[in-house]
Amino acid sequence: MLDSNYLIINRNPQKFSKMKIAGRTAVFFDEGGKPVNYGVIALDDSVYAALCCEEVCNITLVTNKSGIRNVVTILWDTTEGYQEGYDQISKALNRHISVQNKKLNRYAEAIAEKLALGIRLRVTDVVDEAEMAICPECGMLNPAGSKYCLDCGAEIS
Ligand SMILES: [Zn+2]
Repeated sequence: MLDSNYLIINRNPQKFSKMKIAGRTAVFFDEGGKPVNYGVIALDDSVYAALCCEEVCNITLVTNKSGIRNVVTILWDTTEGYQEGYDQISKALNRHISVQNKKLNRYAEAIAEKLALGIRLRVTDVVDEAEMAICPECGMLNPAGSKYCLDCGAEIS
């Protein structure tokens, strides 16, 4: 069990106690009611991919604004907190949040890396590992039907 909710931006974790939605922005506050560092996240067209995993209780956003790419993970310490956060974020985002499995963050980072190379990906829902394609080179789980590995680019037969 986690000791707190966490906002993780590009692998830098910070605790937060409250998330508030203002229009199309999510603001994250610490215990003292102050916004955490970089704790204002736009939920607009700058969000390239929105991913979630109910089992881990997290939502991960890959953002791409003016060429600056970030991987933002919001991790809740309770299922209730996750569900409330999911409802608020999906409403503000007004788009589908792709269901992923536990490897979500590696997947998100792979998406951000491809974006940096100018490659745009189609993000699909991944729920069941049995339906995923395992990369013969690096072992990364890719969405079923993938022709190339999202992680290493190897061909998947
Ligand atoms: Zn691979």
